[in-house]
Amino acid sequence: MDLGIRGKRALVCASSKGLGRGCAEALAEAGADLVMNARGAEALGAAAEKIRTAHGVDVTTVAADITSADGRERVLAACGKIDILVNNAGGPPPGMWHDWEREDFIAALDANMLAPIALIKALVPDMMERGWGRVVNITSQSVRAPIAVLGLSNAARTGLTGYVAGTSRQVAAAGVTINNLLPGIHATDRADSLDGGVAKAEGISLEEARARREATIPVRRYGTPQEFGAACAFLCSQHAGFIVGQNFLLDGGATNLTV
Ligand code: NAP
Repeated sequence: MDLGIRGKRALVCASSKGLGRGCAEALAEAGADLVMNARGAEALGAAAEKIRTAHGVDVTTVAADITSADGRERVLAACGKIDILVNNAGGPPPGMWHDWEREDFIAALDANMLAPIALIKALVPDMMERGWGRVVNITSQSVRAPIAVLGLSNAARTGLTGYVAGTSRQVAAAGVTINNLLPGIHATDRADSLDGGVAKAEGISLEEARARREATIPVRRYGTPQEFGAACAFLCSQHAGFIVGQNFLLDGGATNLTV
C-alpha cells in the first residue's frame, strides 16, 4: 500500500533504537525524510546511515536529550518544516508507590508528558497552517491497565493521554491528527532491562524471566519494532485522516479488555 507520505518530513524523537527506530524505519520505507534524535551520537549516526542507505531518504540527526528544554530547542532548530511528529523518550524507572518523591514525579512528567506536549505546541500550529499533519505519541499499555511497578509511567502517560484527547479534537478541522500508540512488551533494550529486574528479584535467568512473560501474552511472544513501526507509519499516512484522538494497544492481546 502506498502510504502517500513520500517527500513528507518527519521528526522521530528517541529513535536510534527500539520502538522509535522501528517508526523511523517504517516512515523512511514509505518515502518520508527524517529528523532523528537520541542522546547518544554514535548509535544515532549508525542508525541514520543504515536508513539512508536502505531507503534513499534524507536523514538529519540531532544528538540531544528531548526531555530538556535545551535539547528540544536544538532539535527544533534543525527541523525546518515538519509534517509528521512521533513523540517518544525513555520510560521512567520501576519502583514502589511509596518510594517516589516530588523530583521523581517531575522527571517522569517532564519526559513522558510535558516534552511531547511542548513539541506538539511547537510544531502543530505550522501543520495547521499548511492544512496537513500527523502526530503519534508512543505511550504505553499502562494507560489502559496500570502496571503496578511503573507508577511513574502510569501517572505521566495518562496525563499526556488526557491532553491529547482534548487537543486532537481541536486541531482535526485543520487536517492534523493526533493519536497514541500503546506498546505492550516489545523486544527492545527496555524490555531486556525490565526482564533483568525481574530476573534479579526472583533469582532466575533473563531467558526464564522472558519465557514466563511470553507465556502471559496470547500471541506467546514479544512484539517487534518492525510491527510497531508499521502501525505508526499507517497512522501517519494519507489513509488515516479520519482517525482522531485514538489509543491503539499493540500488545499481542495481553491486556484483558472487551473494548
Ligand atoms: P529503548 O529500546 O530503550 O530505546 C530508547 C531509545 O530512546 C534509544 O534510541 C535512546 O537513545 C532514546 N532515548 C531515551 N531517552 C532519551 C531522551 N531523553 N532523549 C532522546 N532520546 C532518548 O526503549 P523502547 O523499548 O523503544 O521504548 C520506547 C518507549 O516506549 C519508552 O518510553 C518505553 O517506556 C515505552 N514502552 C516500551 C515498551 C517495550 O516493551 N519496549 C512497552 C511499553 C512502553 P539514547 O539512550 O542514546 O538517548
